[in-house]
Order: sequence, then structure tokens, then C-alpha cells
Amino acid sequence: MTERSPSSTPVVRCPGCQKSLVYSTDNPWRPFCSERCRGADLGAWASERYRVAASPPQDDDDPIAPPAV
Ligand SMILES: [Zn+2]
Repeated sequence: MTERSPSSTPVVRCPGCQKSLVYSTDNPWRPFCSERCRGADLGAWASERYRVAASPPQDDDDPIAPPAV
């Protein structure tokens, strides 16, 4: 118990941009740093799955979007 900081906040690295960020419940995009990185990661995954890397991924065109209520 030598290195015990008073405010030990867990720091993780964003899978999208490798940027260090505090893993807190205040961040809805954790473990990503932002919605952008989260969306980019999902887009990359989709591109690789469907092989449609023609245009940059956009959030406003979700093929499996739930029906509007
Ligand atoms: Zn990021």
C-alpha cells in the first residue's frame, strides 16, 4: 500500500483512438471516449462484416433499427 492516491479513478484506453479516459459512470460511451469513437468502432465492425466500405458510417441509417413507436 505505497501507491494509493486519494482519488483512484480507473483510467482506461479508448478502443477507438487509444486516448486515455476516466472510466466513470459519467461517461455513457465508456469504454470509448466519445460517441464518435463508439460509432466509428461499430462502423468498422459493420464494414468488415458486410464488406461495404464505400462510404463512411453514419448513425442515421441503421439497417436493424427498432420500429418507431
Ligand atoms: Zn476515442
